[in-house]
Order: sequence, then structure tokens, then C-alpha cells
Amino acid sequence: MIVVSSCLAGMKVRYNGTDSLNEKITELIENERAVAVCPELLGGFQTPREPAEIKGGNGYDVLEGKATVVDKNGINVTELYLAGAYKTLEIVRKLQANTVVLKENSPSCGSSQIYNGHFEGVKCNGAGVTTALLRREGIQVISELELAP
Ligand code: SF4
Repeated sequence: MIVVSSCLAGMKVRYNGTDSLNEKITELIENERAVAVCPELLGGFQTPREPAEIKGGNGYDVLEGKATVVDKNGINVTELYLAGAYKTLEIVRKLQANTVVLKENSPSCGSSQIYNGHFEGVKCNGAGVTTALLRREGIQVISELELAP
């Protein structure tokens, strides 16, 4: 089984109420080969919500308490991001999923790029909080950009 980001499956769960539909992902869902999860909703957020970015590091730094996730109003939302990451890990383990495909650039789901924490639309290298936790636990996470054609 494959676990995928809900927004890639066409669910309108992004902070601004949109999706990030990817046809390869919807095909996996239709063929019952994938299950969709949204770490941020699992963590307790609703849609729409304020955008958030990792401040002072990447997802691994958040796991170690060395960086925080803040929303655009400056509110510290780290706990909700961590809660969503751990709930996602639980689901991945329960399903014994061998691959996880998460949405690039997100502070939860980013694989190799995230935004730099200054809300200026600038990306930097790094993984999101959920991706970091899953990888730390030995689970393979790729982004939708790495899916085979
Ligand atoms: Fe949810 Fe991840 Fe998509 Fe953000 S990128 S909406 S956390 S599934």
C-alpha cells in the first residue's frame, strides 16, 4: 500500500481551500493502491487556515526542538504539526505502507524543499515535519515530482 498526501489526491485540504491534484496519484487511489492522508488536518487544523512555515531550520530541527513552525500571524503552531506527523506515522505503520508520496514544498509534507520561514515566497533545501519523522523512522518518502511517468 502507498500513502499519499490528500491534496495530491484532489481533496481541497490545503491552507487556502484548494488541492494540488496529480493524476498519477488519483489513479493510484482509484485502483485502491493508495490511501490519502493530510497531516495538518490530522494534527487538528481546519481548512482554510493561515499558511505556516518552519522558522529556524527544517523538519528534523522541529523534531529535535531546535526550530518551530509559525503561522503568518506569528503564532507558534509546532505542536499541531508534530501531532499530525505522529498520527501520519501511526497510519503508515498500520497500513504497512512501503512508500509514501508527499506534496513538495509544504512545511509538513515537503521532501527536499520548504519555504524559508520569512513568508516571502522563497524556498530553501529541507524536508517538512511529517517527512522528517517518517524518514527518521526508516520509511521511504518521495515527492510527487519523483513519481515514475
Ligand atoms: Fe495536507 Fe500535506 Fe497537502 Fe498540506 S501538503 S494540504 S499537510 S496533505
